[in-house]
Amino acid sequence: MTLYVADPKLPWRDGDGHIAEPSLRTPLGILGGGQLARMTIEAASALGIDVVVADLKPGSPASRVAAGEVVFPLGWDDEAAIVTLARRTPTITLESEFVDASVLERLRALGCDVWTSPESLRIVQDKLLQKQALAAAAIAVAPFRAVEKPSDVVAFGREAGWPLLLKTRRDGYDGYGNTLVQEPDDAAKACSALGWPARRLLAEAFVTFERELAVIIVRGQDGEEVNYPVVETQQDPERHICRVVLAPAPILGEVAARTSEMAVMAVRAVGGVGTFGVEMFQLADGSVLVNELAPRPHNSGHYSIEACVTSQFANHMRAVLGLPLGDPAMRAPA
Ligand code: AMP
Repeated sequence: MTLYVADPKLPWRDGDGHIAEPSLRTPLGILGGGQLARMTIEAASALGIDVVVADLKPGSPASRVAAGEVVFPLGWDDEAAIVTLARRTPTITLESEFVDASVLERLRALGCDVWTSPESLRIVQDKLLQKQALAAAAIAVAPFRAVEKPSDVVAFGREAGWPLLLKTRRDGYDGYGNTLVQEPDDAAKACSALGWPARRLLAEAFVTFERELAVIIVRGQDGEEVNYPVVETQQDPERHICRVVLAPAPILGEVAARTSEMAVMAVRAVGGVGTFGVEMFQLADGSVLVNELAPRPHNSGHYSIEACVTSQFANHMRAVLGLPLGDPAMRAPA
């Protein structure tokens, strides 16, 4: 594995406009070096495709199986590291939504293909913009409201009922960045607990759901789409992590078909390219709401490594490299 040290003095392009050092270029780069990047690299390796990993610190889990590593010591907007990464690879994807869309824009300005696009990431990484995009596409979501100040929470609760869920618009994961607000008197404390006013918030009606569902959707650059089976996810209430995935979900075929269709529409609504996890709630009356999208391989799809003809990781890599997508069908009934 090669550690590419950022050197701003290296020429970015030679006099003819060609990218420098083509022999050192690697087909794919991933922003983020955690487990999702590592599993994507394992899928790429099966096709003989090398990957460069970028992370804030050296020695990330994915860097140990990567062909190269670029470290961003000054943060994701570290210009020297961005240029180094762009010099090493023509195509870049991400393993988490925590990299700001402006970094993707900068990489694209340097000539890289970036998927999902900066425009799509900008929407998905902000839970309010994401919910607005879904609602605008007529996709069912829980009632929600932007929160500028605690009195907005109180006003929303008057309309939507108590309790309600207060969420940070950005950088929440596995339930961190969410808090349940039981009554109007708790609104101010809940806002502060989530970091308001430094962090921006949204309020959502609390949904009493029958079960949580998830669907992995993969969209290619040309709009080719595949959807994995609808699964049920069960969360550990204390550790806020997914403990059980039932594939396929124990739901009626007609509900599964409707749920898959909604998930595809949701990813289309944000212009997504690559693998997306679509998290949903099934209500007691059988109807389904979209909770949120993840613009990357998702923990509800890890089973696809062993269970499906083509895993969510292999299809993610295929989508971002512009290759035809593989079959998402399960290899066993359940
Ligand atoms: P999120 O941060 O949106 O992924 O939410 C994490 C978990 O919180 C979800 O998997 C649900 O179990 C729960 N949750 C999120 N939004 C709501 C909601 N509006 N009503 C009830 N539970 C929710």
